[in-house]
Amino acid sequence: MKIFNTLTRSKQEFVPINEGKVGIYVCGPTVYDYIHIGNARPMIVFDTLRRYLLYKGYDVNYVSNFTDVDDKIIKRANELGVESAVVSEKYIAECKKDMEGLNVMPATTHPQATKEIPDMIEMIKVLIEKGHAYEKNGTVYFRTRSFDGYGKLSHKNIDDLESGHRAENHQLKVSGEDEKEDPLDFVLWKPKKEGEPSWPSPWGDGRPGWHLECSVMSKKYIGDVIDIHAGGEDLIFPHHENEIAQSEAANDTEFARYWMHNGFLKINNEKMSKSLGNFFTVREISEKYPLQVIRFFMLSAHYRSPLNFSADLVEASKNGLERILTAVEKLKELKPANEGNDPAIEAELENFVKRYEAAMDDDLNTADAISVIFELIKYTNINVTNDTPKATVDKALSTVEKLCDVLGIITEKEEELLDSDIEALINERQAARKAKDFAKADEIRNKLADMGITLLDTREGVKWKRA
Ligand SMILES: [Zn+2]
Repeated sequence: MKIFNTLTRSKQEFVPINEGKVGIYVCGPTVYDYIHIGNARPMIVFDTLRRYLLYKGYDVNYVSNFTDVDDKIIKRANELGVESAVVSEKYIAECKKDMEGLNVMPATTHPQATKEIPDMIEMIKVLIEKGHAYEKNGTVYFRTRSFDGYGKLSHKNIDDLESGHRAENHQLKVSGEDEKEDPLDFVLWKPKKEGEPSWPSPWGDGRPGWHLECSVMSKKYIGDVIDIHAGGEDLIFPHHENEIAQSEAANDTEFARYWMHNGFLKINNEKMSKSLGNFFTVREISEKYPLQVIRFFMLSAHYRSPLNFSADLVEASKNGLERILTAVEKLKELKPANEGNDPAIEAELENFVKRYEAAMDDDLNTADAISVIFELIKYTNINVTNDTPKATVDKALSTVEKLCDVLGIITEKEEELLDSDIEALINERQAARKAKDFAKADEIRNKLADMGITLLDTREGVKWKRA
């Protein structure tokens, strides 16, 4: 498989550090609110990468953090008059619900920053000992110029950054910047302010800087060197650049072999922002569309391309997905009676699989992979019939299902619950009661409850309603 590596700006053959194993670290969301549709893109894209690597037989260790201490969380907690952990725990739980709706597999580990403070302190100590960090009045800064490779991921020149910073600071007069040795230095540990959560450290009570979290948690849960580090392209600078500086300076080894970044998501061709009123949470969108449609939509473009979110485009994805699900349904409903198999059809199926794999092997080109699925269902719709041998029909069905599963698309249609089915069950329950088979009557009531149907025993008979 070839992966476009932001570090080298080229597609490179993926070779894992340990044969058959892949360690992936994906920067996760800051949990101060419901996740927005922009957060969903890296979740879906890199979950698909994980599924494809699993399909290829790799053992995947997938780590994605929750940033649960941050200015935005503290602000929200102060507004609500609660501890910041109340806010972060609530939105971690809500994020997990949205991930489930998007069919994003839970990470092997979802570390939380606040639970890894001792390791963060350890890494800061190492950086100070090695001369890569220094403390001023309770703040610890990373000495950016002490790390030779700074700028290698974002392909920025350190001197250009320096002059950019100067101009910016001159205009903004950022407070506290004066105590830094160099405007490029960034914070590893910040001192406690009134009303903020804090932890004891050798430099006084305080909390870690955001960039440090990922360096520490990837080291703990994957190792000093990770195979693939991924995230949105907005994280390349400064977040990922700073992660590299911290990790490589502390561990004396390469940090991540491959860097993958997904492109921006625009809403109706505009940048998503609260002020433009085009800011949507995944939860809001789930009221309009099944989240599976959103997942399919996100994969309909190559992950590095910008993606425009609009009602028309989502509607087109919804129709496309429907075509696939209908084709699967059709294959399931066939009643083939013939023995043996049809080698010509099976060879054709194999061809589709090969073309699909070639698309996915080319830097996870899900857009082309989806085109192959469309061609495949067009083929099965025409060529796989009741006259096709059963073994070949089964193979056609399992092929479509397998290729959809790698994309995290569930081909099982949700059963529509018809009124007549419900009434048949109610009649069955009444008959059981009449026969004094109360165990069976209860069993049917529970079955209906699982389907979201509530029964009311009234004088006029049994009434029911949907939840
Ligand atoms: Zn990160």
